[in-house]
Amino acid sequence: MRKPIIAGNWKMNKTPSEAKELVTALKPLVKGASCDVVVCVPAVDFAAVKEAAKGSSIKLGAQNVHFKESGAYTGELSAKMLKECGVDYVVIGHSERRQYFGETDETVNLRVKACVAAGMTPIICVGEKKEQREAGYTNALVSYQTLIALEGLTDKEVAKAVIAYEPVWAIGTGLVATDEQANETIGVIRKAIAGKYGKATANKTRIQYGGSMNPKNVKGLMAQSEIDGGLIGGASLKAEDFSKVVGFDKE
Ligand code: PEP
Repeated sequence: MRKPIIAGNWKMNKTPSEAKELVTALKPLVKGASCDVVVCVPAVDFAAVKEAAKGSSIKLGAQNVHFKESGAYTGELSAKMLKECGVDYVVIGHSERRQYFGETDETVNLRVKACVAAGMTPIICVGEKKEQREAGYTNALVSYQTLIALEGLTDKEVAKAVIAYEPVWAIGTGLVATDEQANETIGVIRKAIAGKYGKATANKTRIQYGGSMNPKNVKGLMAQSEIDGGLIGGASLKAEDFSKVVGFDKE
């Protein structure tokens, strides 16, 4: 059985004082959650979130990592830096990074390897654009994106990694993949992993859905056999909404 994982992606939102306020409000609301709970926050919020999350099971996540250990890379953060700040999870290859910051499948793979080598868990984002789905390329594309991102990892490391299937057309748009669409594509991703790393490994890898997931649609999505959690953007910015997504299995 795979333990579900619900991760909030705050994107470029929340100052340190706002971050403290949000996590302080979230803490009692997610107490006793049956899933892993992660908040992926701007680096300037790491200390505030770490402090506010003390005594809870809320884990700290980052939204990117550079693949070099150190050096002349102005504005970037290394895996070692994140690790020392208490980061456990790193979102890698989010479609916004691919779209606005020139992230490629190759650099995603380098970042994944740096993240894993530092002892953190990557949340690797894959997903198709609307026109790619309409042209029938979804399955081939997400399989390729997943396998190239994982290239060079051992079976054990793949089993521990988290994949987030995020159809680009569903991110921040209010459009949600149907439960069946999400389940089917996540099944395709798992099959691709099984083809290269074996069924036992693929059955351990957690694969989330991401794209306008919210308190209203979370139950239907999480009831699907292949969906192991969610990567949540907009609905992670309010404690009450995020806690309702985290509590998808509660009434
Ligand atoms: C995301 O940023 O990964 C995301 C899924 O955003 P939203 O939930 O707002 O669609």
